[in-house]
Amino acid sequence: MTAGLPRLVLLGGGHAHLHVLQDLARTPSAVAAAVLVSPHGTLSYSGMVPGVVGGVYAPSACTIPLVRLAAAAGVRYVAAEAVGLDAAGRRVVLADGSSLPYDVLSLDIGGQQDVQALPGAAGHAVFVRPLGAFVQRLASWLGAARPDGPGRVVIGGGAAGFELAMALRRRPLPVALVTGGAQLLAGYPPGVVRRAERALARAGVEVLRSRALSVGPAFVELEGGVRRACEGCLIATGSTAPPWLAGSGLALDSQGFVRTGPTLQSVSHPEVLAAGDVATRVDVDRPRSGVQAVRAGLPLARNLRLLLAGRPLRPYTPPRRTLNLLACGDGRAIMSWGGWSAEGRWAWWWKDHIDRAFVAHHGGPAEAQGLIRAA
Ligand SMILES: Cc1cc2nc3c(=O)[nH]c(=O)nc-3n(C[C@H](O)[C@H](O)[C@H](O)COP(=O)(O)OP(=O)(O)OC[C@H]3O[C@@H](n4cnc5c(N)ncnc54)[C@H](O)[C@@H]3O)c2cc1C
Repeated sequence: MTAGLPRLVLLGGGHAHLHVLQDLARTPSAVAAAVLVSPHGTLSYSGMVPGVVGGVYAPSACTIPLVRLAAAAGVRYVAAEAVGLDAAGRRVVLADGSSLPYDVLSLDIGGQQDVQALPGAAGHAVFVRPLGAFVQRLASWLGAARPDGPGRVVIGGGAAGFELAMALRRRPLPVALVTGGAQLLAGYPPGVVRRAERALARAGVEVLRSRALSVGPAFVELEGGVRRACEGCLIATGSTAPPWLAGSGLALDSQGFVRTGPTLQSVSHPEVLAAGDVATRVDVDRPRSGVQAVRAGLPLARNLRLLLAGRPLRPYTPPRRTLNLLACGDGRAIMSWGGWSAEGRWAWWWKDHIDRAFVAHHGGPAEAQGLIRAA
């Protein structure tokens, strides 16, 4: 630490940092300065984005006001994107070339999508990440397709791809889901996969199990020389690590995510903590998810406080099982807990209630606001 009070930088306005801001608002920490850096003044809550796509929610319903939360916490908000990190020199490099020094850094910047991974996608497809940008351009993207056109294609056979394909089916156009050769919902229990397959069939979503090779102006090219015509391609493939972390000096895993230990500290730089999708725990194996990012929020807040006070940090064990609710877009959801699953309208009601309560709890629209119509 430098002489005097430490400088805290919260990089990224992700799900875990919501808890940190709330904690700082309740009890201010002894810091010389605290800064939140995020390119957008709001966070789009991912759990509700498929509902926005399906027209169940207005875009504002999933919006959490980071600027307001930062102000309430006495944290200065800096509207900027980090493009580099010098862990040895303890400074974050911003897109305008300036840099922010820190004594303690907390990373919650999520993951991103590699727009170059699929040829043609950068020019002809829409990427679901960053979520805020996706939500902003959603209306014009939806409006671009002709009512008698070939419909839309979603690429990505994970939870986001499934939910987005099902949500798009609420709109009057055909939808195809490209799962990339991998099993639909890889990593989910077999019962959930079966339920999801039935839901896709019920909704009339065409499931294409081959790999997408490229995207053109009005088609997606698949393995085996198949061309699927479409007027709108949505890329919902898994997230990758921000590439600039590679030059940071932080210890990273083989995919470029920050390696952290039980206290959420970087294994190479103890003054750097990381949580959410950007972090990989070296001691436990957990999937990346919004639920895990949210659950890490309180331990992150506590350990930042302890570190700033020069006290020993406490270990955090992420839950092995979490409640999982997949929206089917038709007023139903698939619920799972470990290997057990069930589905129904009650599960959608439950998910809707949890999601809107979460947004409202973090200063977003009051629960009933933003709801356009029941799913
Ligand atoms: C459509 C969709 C639906 C999903 N639904 C669910 C669900 O129902 N349940 C679930 O558990 N998971 C869900 N997920 C996964 C979930 O979105 C992620 O796991 C979660 O967002 C990770 O949270 P995070 O805090 O790590 O980062 P994020 O929520 O991604 O937040 C990252 C923040 O950092 C900011 N940021 C990014 N880069 C920079 C930078 N360079 N400089 C400064 N700031 C930066 C961003 O603007 C953003 O504010 C869904 C994902 C998608 C795409």
